[in-house]
Amino acid sequence: MIARRNPLPKIQANNMKFKFLLFTFFLLATSTVYSDEPFQVGTAEIEITPPVGYRMSGYFYERLNEGVKDPLKAKAIVFSQGNRTGAIIVCDIIGIFLEVSIPARNLIEENLSIPASHISIAATHAHTGPLYSGSMRNQFHKEAIARDGSDPHEKIDYPKFLIKQILKVTKQANNNLQPVNISAGFGFENRIAFNRRFVTKSGKVKTWIGINHPDVVRVAGPVDTEIGLIQFTSVKDKKPVSLISSYALHLDTVGGTKFSADFPYYLSKSLKEKFGEQFTSIFGAGTCGDINHVNTESKKRNKTNEIGNYLTESVVKALPDLKPASKPSLKIKSAIVNVGKQKYSEAEIAEAKTIMPRINDFKIPFNKRVKSYSIVNLQEKSVSTLPFEVHAFRISKDIAIVTLPGEVFVELGMQIKQESPFKTTLVIELANEAPGYIPTKKAFAEGSYETLNSRCIPCSGEEMTSVAIRLLKELHTE
Ligand SMILES: [Zn+2]
Repeated sequence: MIARRNPLPKIQANNMKFKFLLFTFFLLATSTVYSDEPFQVGTAEIEITPPVGYRMSGYFYERLNEGVKDPLKAKAIVFSQGNRTGAIIVCDIIGIFLEVSIPARNLIEENLSIPASHISIAATHAHTGPLYSGSMRNQFHKEAIARDGSDPHEKIDYPKFLIKQILKVTKQANNNLQPVNISAGFGFENRIAFNRRFVTKSGKVKTWIGINHPDVVRVAGPVDTEIGLIQFTSVKDKKPVSLISSYALHLDTVGGTKFSADFPYYLSKSLKEKFGEQFTSIFGAGTCGDINHVNTESKKRNKTNEIGNYLTESVVKALPDLKPASKPSLKIKSAIVNVGKQKYSEAEIAEAKTIMPRINDFKIPFNKRVKSYSIVNLQEKSVSTLPFEVHAFRISKDIAIVTLPGEVFVELGMQIKQESPFKTTLVIELANEAPGYIPTKKAFAEGSYETLNSRCIPCSGEEMTSVAIRLLKELHTE
């Protein structure tokens, strides 16, 4: 029998009660209040392949489609917990532009009551999808109209079609909501991604030149070998529902004139074979602005299916070790960072405008065509600053997803992950807008293709990165 302790003297008891209340208040004020309501996820996928013959994006010339290698898809994942909802949609295309992301997000809000600010629409950056927006599309479209009276390569209004499909797939995902168990962590993959910028003897950096070039001193930057993974499993039947994965590698491994979702197609195919046709593999491009698949040391160029298979192997190997989410807790924050536009002289702008109609002319040096495209593209934007929208999704006490616009340098994504208070943070680029490359400040000083094909001023990437880190820190303590 436990001896009854003498009651504490009243004053001391009161004092302790007061201290306890203070302590409780302190805890409430400083620690995250996690919800006990079930965390639900719904996923769906839909085809977004344009009609055969549509122009293709990815390179600096007019490239007409001649068929389909594998279908392009938009994949949606809707999150719901209590009265909080959010969604991520990833499309197998080169980029998502404001003309699509703004109406699509507003329509989803109107139809499904998911706040537009809680929705992020990203592109995988497939270079074998449609050229449906931007100054190059506008140039070719204008020429076709002038020549033929109509554009034979735009049998459909693709932006309108894409918005419709994004809404439809998000509705389907919303209808599929079910309670899930969540686990997350990282896979490791070092066989398929290579930093494509090289420091030359002059100190200048050149893209694609290769490590064996006599002028090259070293590789300019790192590779991110982590594959971020978040797995959702049905509470009801314990079956895997979906896997969000993110890896930093440019989706430009196919080439040619057939539509293809590039290497994530093979990841999806293998995971469906393993987990069933209902399983949705959602691959988000990691920050791969300076990363591609060419091993310049061995000059080896893995084929798309080989890259997909290496990635799948590393993903599948990592799945058993993913850590269950301790406290699922949905909260989403977003912020807009207004960054400066690159400035050009009147003479540069005038020259760019004369080169743009000759963008197909390979006699004009590549860098000149790229710069002209970049300048004309920037002149078409009437805004005085570029709105870079950053999203942070808190999935649990330990798991978060960040989405960023543009083609972001790998160093910036690695910094976000490094400074994130979450154990697992996935960073997905090319969300909601595609304002070209977002290099590091250092890269702007060094030069290279990516800095030519960028619309923002130096430090924009660092500003965006610090906002992403701030949002993550806020979400971790709120
Ligand atoms: Zn790119």
